[in-house]
Amino acid sequence: MSSIQYNYDVVVIGGGHAGCEAALASARLGARTLLLTINMDHIAQMSCNPAVGGIAKGQVVREIDALGGGMGRITDAASIQFRMLNSGKGPAVWSPRSQCDKVCYQKAMKFELEKAENLIIHQAEASGFLTGGDKICGVTTTFNETFKCKSAVVAAGTFLSGKLHYGLLNYPGGRAGDPPSCRMSESLGAQLGIRLGRLKTGTPPRVLAKTINFGKMIVQESDSPDEYFSYFPEDRAFPRAVKRDMPCHLVKSTLATSEIIRNNLDKSPLYQGVISGIGTRYCPSFEDKVIRFPHHETHLLYLEPEGEFTGEYYINGISTSLPPEVQVQMLHSIPGLENAVISRYAYAIEYDFVHPDQLSRSLAVKKWPNLFLAGQINGTSGYEEAAGQGLVAGLNSARFANGLEPVELGRETSYIGVMIDDLVTKEIVEPYRLFTSRAEYRLMLRQDNADIRLCPLAHSIGLLPSAKFAKFTGYFNRLKEIEQKFRTEKHENQTIHGRLKALGGVVPSKMDFPLPYLDLSSQEDRRILRQLIISAHYEGYIERELRSVKNLQKLELWKIPKDFNYDAITGLRNESRLKLSKILPGTLAQASRIDGVTPAEISLLQVHLKRIFQPTIHASGK
Ligand SMILES: Cc1cc2nc3c(=O)[nH]c(=O)nc-3n(C[C@H](O)[C@H](O)[C@H](O)COP(=O)(O)OP(=O)(O)OC[C@H]3O[C@@H](n4cnc5c(N)ncnc54)[C@H](O)[C@@H]3O)c2cc1C
Repeated sequence: MSSIQYNYDVVVIGGGHAGCEAALASARLGARTLLLTINMDHIAQMSCNPAVGGIAKGQVVREIDALGGGMGRITDAASIQFRMLNSGKGPAVWSPRSQCDKVCYQKAMKFELEKAENLIIHQAEASGFLTGGDKICGVTTTFNETFKCKSAVVAAGTFLSGKLHYGLLNYPGGRAGDPPSCRMSESLGAQLGIRLGRLKTGTPPRVLAKTINFGKMIVQESDSPDEYFSYFPEDRAFPRAVKRDMPCHLVKSTLATSEIIRNNLDKSPLYQGVISGIGTRYCPSFEDKVIRFPHHETHLLYLEPEGEFTGEYYINGISTSLPPEVQVQMLHSIPGLENAVISRYAYAIEYDFVHPDQLSRSLAVKKWPNLFLAGQINGTSGYEEAAGQGLVAGLNSARFANGLEPVELGRETSYIGVMIDDLVTKEIVEPYRLFTSRAEYRLMLRQDNADIRLCPLAHSIGLLPSAKFAKFTGYFNRLKEIEQKFRTEKHENQTIHGRLKALGGVVPSKMDFPLPYLDLSSQEDRRILRQLIISAHYEGYIERELRSVKNLQKLELWKIPKDFNYDAITGLRNESRLKLSKILPGTLAQASRIDGVTPAEISLLQVHLKRIFQPTIHASGK
């Protein structure tokens, strides 16, 4: 037994994007929460590119904000460039993205944690667990401390038995400059019997600005948005970046760059079999791009500033694990980078992850119901994916500590729900990242309406404070009132609603017909107008999506008991039986999303479940 002992409700392990949101959510629910992290100065570190948001990820950040989390507000504080991606396409796929000042982001998040009530942060490496029956009773650290707890969250990111690769040279590390976490890996695997796998990711070199010839590159300026990430921009009590419009630059690699890759594959740990972890297809290393897509002669690269008070640039698109001397050659073959000096070399990292089919949709480990996992440890990649899971894990760990049932987010209400359902239902064979195409209800899951989708739930479970909820309801009630009036009131024989619908989802810079009730000099009224135009445009499609949601909700009502015996069902194919027994879906809807389980098998399961219970279908169909 260790010398120092403390009692908490919830212990969160890891001060990355997942751990920070987990700790904030848990503390917000009143649970006495401890956040343990290896290095306090690296809290909320952006290990890879200094940007938050992007396709589908931007929607997640807005969802986190609507759920009372920190990422949206902190990103707004640290933003040095904001763009609405996909703005040339339909509003369903518009995705906000902010280039961030990396240091400002970290400082702001650390300060947010320090200010939070019920939350203590402490620098220490968690090494193991105290257990009793099927429960975690405490967390131990390498300082010989014991933190007793009612539930715990592990959000250890890329640190579990992490190994860094620079060419054929490799050594242990959690990311450049941080040690790995090896004991935690052992504790999860050997002590708790959790199945681990191995994944890989990588990061490009950073280059000094004064050695870059930006004159040879295309400039990409910031958009001038009417709103940023947070629905509650007034809630900003932390350090803030001053510059709001630092440009990025675009440039293309050359034939010579690809030639350098082909000539040096013998030095690539990826191509020499030194790396066994599986990397992400969607964010390939530069050597993968050259070898797997030989028909692309050149590749687009983005030069992104790492912050306001630093001369370092991140070269997005040229992630590699080739050795330093080859990285220098590669960069010098690119226009504008002929004399570039690398401040930090690119590297690849391999790490242990937990196969997430061992989790339920609350993010609890099925065989350890008070242990929650969140972030890259669950096989995802990306800050936003990590933060979204962190919020759910923190919420449910605090609920567990308070003796409450878990809250699960549905696929029809959020991208966070889509992601978690995918993680626990599908086999993860490569790092998982979100895309809009993963959501079947993407016309409803837009970045502009995350508050409408999630604020009421967030408030009802204690995540969203009353003042913010009052702001939301003020906006929402006015929106609905004006929408109602626009459906009936006419201008030149056409309802205003009809006129807005005819705009096809495009928000014009100036309206060519009068709009009663709205004062477009007010930011809130401009928001209401945007919302009315977008929702009028999607009206018909959304009705169709809602019908399909009702069918899904009916299947969600068919709960499958944890001890359901799939062996007793004749007629299931062996492949499906194995998958069902391994994943143990909580509902028939979840079972229907398991790859390879057929609709006929779902009907068969339903017949067997009917013998156990009949779900109550309300008159509304829910
Ligand atoms: C080299 C590299 C390249 C990447 N490239 C990409 C990319 O191209 N695209 C992309 O989307 N994402 C990329 N990522 C991933 C991105 O950094 C993560 O998705 C994101 O940071 C995950 O957040 P997290 O909170 O799960 O973990 P992390 O941000 O890794 O944070 C983990 C935290 O846990 C702490 N910790 C670990 N073990 C312990 C312990 N035993 N006790 C106490 N604290 C502990 C660490 O100190 C750290 O604070 C990359 C990461 C790395 C390292």
